[in-house]
Amino acid sequence: MRKAGTVITQAWLTADGAAEVMGALTAEGGIARFVGGCVRDALAGRAVRDLDIATDQRPAVVVGLLKAAGLKAVPTGIAHGTVTAVVHGRPFEVTTLRVDIETDGRHAVVEFTDDWTEDARRRDFTMNALYCDPDGTVYDPVGGVEDLKAHRVRFIGDPFSRIEEDALRILRFFRFHAWYGKGAMDEPGLTACRERRADLGRLSVERIRAEMMRLLEAPAPEWTLQVMAEAGVLPQVVPEAGALRCLGRLVDIGESDALLRLASLTSRRADVLTGLAERWKLSTKEKVRLRRMAAGETDVPAGLSDAEARAQVYWLGPERFRDLALLDWAADGDDRRHLVALAERWSVPTFPLKGADLLRRGVPAGERVGALLRTLERQWVEEGFEAGKAELLARLQDID
Ligand code: ATP
Ligand code: MG
Repeated sequence: MRKAGTVITQAWLTADGAAEVMGALTAEGGIARFVGGCVRDALAGRAVRDLDIATDQRPAVVVGLLKAAGLKAVPTGIAHGTVTAVVHGRPFEVTTLRVDIETDGRHAVVEFTDDWTEDARRRDFTMNALYCDPDGTVYDPVGGVEDLKAHRVRFIGDPFSRIEEDALRILRFFRFHAWYGKGAMDEPGLTACRERRADLGRLSVERIRAEMMRLLEAPAPEWTLQVMAEAGVLPQVVPEAGALRCLGRLVDIGESDALLRLASLTSRRADVLTGLAERWKLSTKEKVRLRRMAAGETDVPAGLSDAEARAQVYWLGPERFRDLALLDWAADGDDRRHLVALAERWSVPTFPLKGADLLRRGVPAGERVGALLRTLERQWVEEGFEAGKAELLARLQDID
């Protein structure tokens, strides 16, 4: 396979279990190379996250080699040739060289191969088909290094047929552009994405959501999203999306949370956010959070005093207050930095009274206990959270 003439000299090549996995896979004369994101990110000078490995050893052999070296082997996707090696709790995805011989846009029928260039050709973009030996020697079978340097996301082979095989590549094209691209998008790739956009309808919502969330987390995704909108791709996956101005402001503010950025694309109507959360099958926690980003009764005006803001933080909770402050700031452009900071810094006090305190003071058990507690809590909040337990109890006789 074509060497790139570049050598990576970074600690991850051997650190934290990598040397053990590579050692195990090559123990019987096989070849194992790092592939994809880790090689790309190392060459781009970015932080390397998870390590994916390609090998000419067949999956059953991979399992045997890992076990023989005393490592854990989990057959996570054995039908597609993927075994996850786990060392000290750290996972490494090990995939046998393969060709995808039949695809219906969702499931691939695979055939294993010994040919590294064939394995490269089934991958999506040139910058994702980079390999490196355990000693750091880089292999570049399809011209990924040059494209990476030129900030050009380019399909391997004919974009139309690559999208026909797997429509997720449309979203990956934009996602990788948002992270690695600069300037105009590769025209043949963009044209194919535009013309094949209806294929997105065949994808599972989980795959769409995962790609879109990672796209939204990119440092500055608004231009990419703008192109997606103009190409008719964005409406296919987020029909709720409208103007991108609020997202642009969130980016300028320095906020990269994907859920906030997602909400900022929409009208933030409660029913719209609820519908989106349901369709994307978000986790319960995310569903609740997204719904609570709805614009409406609980806006956070830029002009809130610190005292008013603390009361709001108390009632809404710091997370919701912060979310609303940021979204309202993004919506009207009025700086709410001080409010965001307050929500992050201020530790919310606990109301000092419990129902039991009132019962001990002779209030009969019943609805009145709750009503009294709520009245006293409101007073306590309005007065700046200062009154202590004794002072609050002393007020009991003055409340009818
Ligand atoms: P990151 O993990 O930083 O998002 P990555 O390149 O590792 O980037 P993964 O989604 O983990 O991306 O995929 C690993 C590799 O598998 C990719 O680099 C690419 O070579 C290949 N790949 C992943 N998904 C596809 C796909 N839908 N079509 C073709 N190849 C793919
Ligand atoms: Mg990866």
